[in-house]
Amino acid sequence: MVYKSAGFLDRAEEALLEGVRLFPGESYFYYEIAKIYKNSGRIEESVEFLEKAVALKKEFEDELLYTKLYLANFYIEKGRTDKAFKIIRKIHSPLPTPFFYYVISKLYYYVGETEKGYSKALQGMRLSPKHMQPFLEIIEEFEGLNEEKLRDIINKTELNPVIGLKLVQLLINENRKDEALKLLEELNEKFPVDSEVKEIYLKILWEIGRKKQVVDEIEKFLKLLKEKKKAFKCENCGFETDTFDWICPKCRNWETLEINCENR
Ligand SMILES: [Zn+2]
Repeated sequence: MVYKSAGFLDRAEEALLEGVRLFPGESYFYYEIAKIYKNSGRIEESVEFLEKAVALKKEFEDELLYTKLYLANFYIEKGRTDKAFKIIRKIHSPLPTPFFYYVISKLYYYVGETEKGYSKALQGMRLSPKHMQPFLEIIEEFEGLNEEKLRDIINKTELNPVIGLKLVQLLINENRKDEALKLLEELNEKFPVDSEVKEIYLKILWEIGRKKQVVDEIEKFLKLLKEKKKAFKCENCGFETDTFDWICPKCRNWETLEINCENR
């Protein structure tokens, strides 16, 4: 159970199910029950009730689509790619959303179709570079992220701290400090309050003896830090968190958590 007040939820569920019995043509009851199930991890049942809601009222279609994707993602993680494919195939008019590309990409990777998995991941990252992190995790798990791969992704999407620092780390490990520094300068310029970029940038500057520059950078950074926010922000309710999720933990909206632009 996600909610602490499980007793209240049980009663709410009961009351809504009673509503369905009394008014079987009222879409609202199915939709509200589906929401309770979704929020308590009963995703299969949630989809079932959303389908009934959509049959009565089209406006719940997006919610149904996202919940289906959520269910497919759940099945993939349980090793049930057959069930996930079944869900994906039945989606007739998919919204081109990052979450859709994420699930498709993951599904292809899990069944060994690496090229298709990669191509879908690129589509998703291009569509929304702010959602790059979960895609990179999948690519790393199945293909690894060597230099060639990282550069390919940057060329086909964009340079940001999430992927830029992976490449920096790789260059440092290979003792290619000049190249790492060049990339860090670019990242530091573009993302002046990213603390990870700053930390590694200063460390390299220090190591190569540019100590005066380190002091100047720290002073600049401290000023900017006062305004720093958390890594992700919900574009709907403004909730801020450092942990990414496809669903906002506060307002339960889909895909509204984005990299917090106030930090960039
Ligand atoms: Zn929210």
